[in-house]
Amino acid sequence: MLLILGLDIAGQPFRWLSPEEAVSYNATGKVAWSIGEPVVIFHGGYNRAGVQSIVESAPIIAIARSDIMAAKALAYPPLGDRNDLLFKRDRHVCAFCGESFGRDKLTRDHILPRSRGGRDGWMNVVAACRFCNHRKGAKTPEEAGMPLRYLPYAPCRYEHFLLSGRNILTDQMDYLTAMLPAHSRLNG
Ligand SMILES: [Zn+2]
Repeated sequence: MLLILGLDIAGQPFRWLSPEEAVSYNATGKVAWSIGEPVVIFHGGYNRAGVQSIVESAPIIAIARSDIMAAKALAYPPLGDRNDLLFKRDRHVCAFCGESFGRDKLTRDHILPRSRGGRDGWMNVVAACRFCNHRKGAKTPEEAGMPLRYLPYAPCRYEHFLLSGRNILTDQMDYLTAMLPAHSRLNG
């Protein structure tokens, strides 16, 4: 489904919006500025002159008075229970054997195992294939003799929007990638 990138007045992303939400913001005059040509068009009722009302939304809209909403959004969003974002962060590559896998063959590996106090957070997890995860067991990479091929990192807000978006439009992709830190693996 097409989603609209909602920004605060300063240009910080705060949420992916459904087309209905975006159109509602447009219809009620709450869009302060926008980027890109309209991508959703809603047709409303007809007025007395027989003209049908139309409400459009650009792919990126900045919502007036949304500074409070954006401030609530965490700079480093949490990992969560689902693995989609983790696998995307790690580009579906196993951190131990370096091979690419489909999501059904990947698991969430805790670098320091949870049974030994390892946290379930961005900095302690990597994508691992089932074979490597099983082989590593309750050991650290050093103990198992399985060095990490890449290091974990916590996605910043812009990376998180890229990871969590679906069918991201070109304008949205350009906007978010322009804000990525230089070290981001999502660059290029
Ligand atoms: Zn592997």
